[in-house]
Amino acid sequence: MTAAEAPTPDTAPHLSAAARGDAPRVGVLGDGQLARMMAPAAVELGVELRLLAGRAEASAARVIPRTTLGDYRSVEDVTAFAADVDVVTFDHEHVPAEVLDALTAQGTPLHPGPEALLYAQDKLAMRRAVEQLGLPNPHWAAVHTVAELRDFGDDTGWPVVLKTPRGGYDGKGVRIIDSSASASAAQDWFDRAAEQGTGLLAEEKIPFTRELSAQVARSAVGEIRAYPVVESTQTDGVCDIVVAPAPRSHPTHMEDAASIARLIAEKLGVTGMLAVELFEITDGERAGVYVNELAMRPHNSGHWSMDGAVTGQFEQHLRAVLGLPLGSTAPIGGPGGRTVMKNLFGASASDLHAGVPEAARHAPEAKIHLYGKEPRPGRKVGHVNVVLAPEPGEVAVAAAELDRAQSRALHAAALITGTTTDD
Ligand code: ADP
Repeated sequence: MTAAEAPTPDTAPHLSAAARGDAPRVGVLGDGQLARMMAPAAVELGVELRLLAGRAEASAARVIPRTTLGDYRSVEDVTAFAADVDVVTFDHEHVPAEVLDALTAQGTPLHPGPEALLYAQDKLAMRRAVEQLGLPNPHWAAVHTVAELRDFGDDTGWPVVLKTPRGGYDGKGVRIIDSSASASAAQDWFDRAAEQGTGLLAEEKIPFTRELSAQVARSAVGEIRAYPVVESTQTDGVCDIVVAPAPRSHPTHMEDAASIARLIAEKLGVTGMLAVELFEITDGERAGVYVNELAMRPHNSGHWSMDGAVTGQFEQHLRAVLGLPLGSTAPIGGPGGRTVMKNLFGASASDLHAGVPEAARHAPEAKIHLYGKEPRPGRKVGHVNVVLAPEPGEVAVAAAELDRAQSRALHAAALITGTTTDD
């Protein structure tokens, strides 16, 4: 792998709009909440957002007037959609290589580009790249059979985390194999992988203290800005609560995490928002941060920035893919400020709006974001942000204050999703 060359300034997609004398046009493939949340930022920047959506009722299609219905897996649909936009970007990583190739052949600027995107699409390719860059991986191997999985587990220690290299999200495609005896339970995954001509990714189970996420934006002309590293708490393998910047920060781990994200953005030639999910071990021989996975788009661990940073990640993504100068990533509450983000998951409430008045009364400081999605159990349907600044005379938000804010964010979320009706 070679370091990608940063494109020269004259390739900035916003310049083709300027030559036309018109607003820049950004085309988005993928119709979920990430595309939806680009809309307010596009309105503010005067950017025309266009969407290729699978369904008219999809989260993003409900709010983006210039929506075309089509299939992101169809070369015909995507090339027609992209014919007169200045740049194409994504709200997920699942666009097939032949579609990306067709866009490149058509001359449509793509951000992130296909060479970079591969490392967010394929976890085996990502592990190899992280290794070649000399960055910290968990112990890992590509395994093709139950016997290879057993060898890996016997060498590295059980349990083993087994992953499908492609197509997983929110913990789907991740399985814990407890022991050599239970390895045969993974035979179905090996059969499916063999049909697709690939292997599976086996990883040691990292005894992490907590999970972190380091986000950076890299623009189409190579400018980079890093966001503060955040702490992300997962429930059942899914991002649930984020505290930004990460509290109780270790003297070097936060800097390490941020440098890893910068290096990956630069060396892999990522454009747009990049999230590097990391495991942190705070003490002992293996203290440090380890790369978990990469996302090349706005990411759940960056939703805090919509209210808690000078430039939210959705605005930053649009700036980056257009090659515009990037915005400040400073926290609104200053370096000692904090934002708590709590995800809303579908639960008992069938109408999320019914709970909003009570949640808003309970926590007027909470910023409520709903995605216009049907609240099926466990589905991400929104989030709330609570932004805190230090008390006058204090350098940082006190731990007790952060705990109180977190409880209020959790309670507001529960009132909306119908998990509780207590006050
Ligand atoms: P997805 O792509 O579905 O988000 P991840 O690879 O991020 O899947 O894994 C989901 C979660 O599973 C992680 O956030 C972490 O909590 C846990 N996990 C994944 N890999 C490991 C590992 N090697 N060691 C310990 N926990 C892991």
